[in-house]
Amino acid sequence: MKYDHVDPRPLPVVALVGRPNVGKSTLFNRLVGGHNAIVEDEPGVTRDRRYGDADWDGKAFRVVDTGGLDLAAAGRGGMAEHIARQAMRAVEEAELVLFVLDAHEGLTAGDRDAAGVLRKTGKRVLWVANKVDGARHEALAGELYGLGADEVIGVSATHGRNIGELLDAILVRLPDAPPYLDEDAAERPIRVALVGRPNAGKSSLLNRLAGEERVIVDATAGTTRDPVDMQVEYGGRRFTLIDTAGIRRRARVEAPMEKIAVAMAEKAVGRSEVTVLLIDGAGGVGEQDARIAGMCDEEGRALVIGLNKRDLLAGPDEKKLREEIERKLQFVPWATVVALSAQTGKGVPELMKAVVAAHHAFRKRVGTGELNRFFEGLVERHPPSLHKGHPVKLYYITQASAGPPTFVLQVNSPDGLHFSYRRYIANQLRKEFGFDGTPVRLIARARKSKGR
Ligand code: GDP
Ligand code: GDP
Repeated sequence: MKYDHVDPRPLPVVALVGRPNVGKSTLFNRLVGGHNAIVEDEPGVTRDRRYGDADWDGKAFRVVDTGGLDLAAAGRGGMAEHIARQAMRAVEEAELVLFVLDAHEGLTAGDRDAAGVLRKTGKRVLWVANKVDGARHEALAGELYGLGADEVIGVSATHGRNIGELLDAILVRLPDAPPYLDEDAAERPIRVALVGRPNAGKSSLLNRLAGEERVIVDATAGTTRDPVDMQVEYGGRRFTLIDTAGIRRRARVEAPMEKIAVAMAEKAVGRSEVTVLLIDGAGGVGEQDARIAGMCDEEGRALVIGLNKRDLLAGPDEKKLREEIERKLQFVPWATVVALSAQTGKGVPELMKAVVAAHHAFRKRVGTGELNRFFEGLVERHPPSLHKGHPVKLYYITQASAGPPTFVLQVNSPDGLHFSYRRYIANQLRKEFGFDGTPVRLIARARKSKGR
């Protein structure tokens, strides 16, 4: 479970609370990115408490997701009461509470009660209106200010909207967060999700990497939908393979295959740093493959596409398949494609090398000096076009976090930065600093003088 950071101070804890379904777990995944999340099962409690570490702007903190906890249930007795106590325990150990609300639903009576309970704890609270996917949230924000909120941040956990602002707001409220140090990253196992349609060859690849017929984990009821982790050493590196292959054997009697498979792939991708998407060379690129690639793009996970069963493909067939991948998965042009045969083992070392390289890029940090020297040249070569007749000024760029690499660009007007220009910058960064196999995020922010 360890976040082996070198600073001896414990990480400050940020607790996510709110009614079920407001999007806490989605937000949790956004905040902790590819970092390891630990699930703490409490006997008798249906929902887990999850911990994960996040870093932003060189600072680290720990996030705890309390699961669909209904704070207002305190005093009602029974299970609800028990769960509410769990939430309170998380709140007690936290330096900061993120009170998450669903902007679509507005403020409910339960939210008001919970706000009252929170106020009595005297904890610092940051109010987060989630699911602000495009619509405005001023009405909700207005109500929240009425309840005593000092600032309401509107985000979309699923689209990643405004997450940089939220992280900023968290850090401002955690002045003592220790610096993030990732020097030991090379020692930690790389977390790799192994996904793909049935028959793509996941089990075959797993067996090859494990070097033996793997023991099928006998999953107990209730965990059949969860991917299974497996520790593997390959080429001198350690990997945690998050395996979704067992599903056919385990889930035969359950609901529609397709649905379970997608949900399971989603979990595996969410917990991975690098996703390996195996494509059946004999079957081509399917809709499910595109969905998984889309998840990697949205969730910000590195992606290596394994074109499997190359032993069945003639040269021209392979070329056609690569073109098909380029066309159908054009939204992840940064993904690395490697042809292999899980059966004969040909190409497997190259696949794993690509995984290590993608992981390196995913975790890589570029210093601000180096970044800005490059950035100046880039802007000089190709300055942004005018926005409503005014020049768009780009001041400077910093890498705010890694996993995936996320850059913050200070500009005079973020709205003036055209989508294609953002893409240009992201592509140039990718080329110059070798961010192959990983998505690169670029956040434009209005330059403001913040007293911190
Ligand atoms: P939790 O019970 O609070 O942990 O909520 P979840 O994270 O499980 O999310 C509940 C539902 O809301 C899921 O179907 C999510 O996909 C959805 N959801 C979460 N965040 C957003 C968002 O930003 N926008 C929209 N439209 N849906 C979201
Ligand atoms: P999974 O459903 O993704 O776990 O796929 P499996 O590993 O069970 O493989 C499905 C079928 O494809 C099996 O019959 C495998 O023997 C076969 N297969 C897997 N990899 C290869 C390969 O590289 N070449 C060939 N020819 N067959 C393969």
